[in-house]
Amino acid sequence: MMKTFELTCSVCDKIFPGDGLRLRCPDCGEGLDTPIITEGKIRASDKPGQRVLERYADFFPYLDLSDDPGLGEGMTPLIRDDVLAAEVGVAAVYLKNETVNPTWSFKDRGTATGIVQAKNLGYKKVGTASTGNMAVSVAAFAGRAGMKALVLVSDKIAEEKLNPIAVHGPTLVKIKGDYSKMYDTALEIGGKLGIAFINSDATMRVAGYKTMAYEICEQCDFDVPDYVIVPNSAGGQFRGIFKGFLDFYRCGLIEKLPVMVAAQASGCSPVAAAFEKGENRVSRFENPSTIAGAITNPLPPSGNGVLRILREYGGLAVTESDESMLASQKRLAERGLFVQPESALTLAVLKKLVAKGQIKAGSKVVCVLSGGGLKFTAALGMQQLKAHSCRLEEAVEFISEVF
Ligand SMILES: *Cc1c(COP(=O)(O)O)cnc(C)c1O
Ligand SMILES: [Zn+2]
Repeated sequence: MMKTFELTCSVCDKIFPGDGLRLRCPDCGEGLDTPIITEGKIRASDKPGQRVLERYADFFPYLDLSDDPGLGEGMTPLIRDDVLAAEVGVAAVYLKNETVNPTWSFKDRGTATGIVQAKNLGYKKVGTASTGNMAVSVAAFAGRAGMKALVLVSDKIAEEKLNPIAVHGPTLVKIKGDYSKMYDTALEIGGKLGIAFINSDATMRVAGYKTMAYEICEQCDFDVPDYVIVPNSAGGQFRGIFKGFLDFYRCGLIEKLPVMVAAQASGCSPVAAAFEKGENRVSRFENPSTIAGAITNPLPPSGNGVLRILREYGGLAVTESDESMLASQKRLAERGLFVQPESALTLAVLKKLVAKGQIKAGSKVVCVLSGGGLKFTAALGMQQLKAHSCRLEEAVEFISEVF
């Protein structure tokens, strides 16, 4: 059942009723924010496997959570790595392991809340325009929720990316043409055909990402980390995590807000470029080129919203190269976690900020590991990896030499 609440524009602050999907501000076209929660409590439970939306139900008063698809998203580990902390030169490094979500990326948190809202509003169909993690996530959750899913992809999509989406049974359509116009086209199709589109920075998708911040606060015993580094593309993840910290702050559950760091690939960094120039609007990043496909959005729909948070709350936007991403991917894998290059970027950016003296030695830092390494196996071919081989009869001698 639908609930009534207000939405605030993330950039112009105008207020609108939350009476439908409302994916963008009707006035200025920017993303919309769900209300900040000021009186929430955590519904603690000793039960293993408590649903994330059950635990934090107070922070979603605008959703009827009886429609929760509950696929086990969220509740991911926060792993303290003292070896990496010593290498980097900070007091503590925490790795938020989002790769253990049902479809192996944090997108599942926002897909869940997007689906809940669509069901609350009586929609039978959901959709998304994405070539990667979001497409897989929406297809999977729609299946779970018994809804039809439409997934629009570019006709340039690699064949290996198509089947992991198709296997969940959505209607998959390859679209020829300028993929950067797909976001707007999707909204048009959705409006005409009664499909709830849960795109990259859809209002309720962003709200779903708040739970990552709630968990981090609890996992740090409410001693908020100094920095949270987020791989940033459309800006939905960044806006959602920050909003989660803001909720807990306004509820008096935490005493400070972390400094938020938007990490971008050097080969596609519209937000970092605008931030460096002191601009409050992003411009299109021309000729993007990076291996980090999941964060290659040359004109991010929530870029202006992210810039605003960075400016008003003292955040940072930082870039690193593909080479540094791959080196950090290797190092994280050696420490036990094989993540996408996009996720490894957070460690590369942390190293850069410490080297530049912008993050001090005593700091506690969270790196958001947004998605699993098997999503992009081509990166394995870019690593210098090797395996030995020898004959069985020579095994003892051979291994005593190489190991
Ligand atoms: C989608 C995605 C991002 C970026 O999130 P945005 O909300 O688009 O900024 C980062 N990492 C991974 C693995 C992703 O799938
Ligand atoms: Zn607006």
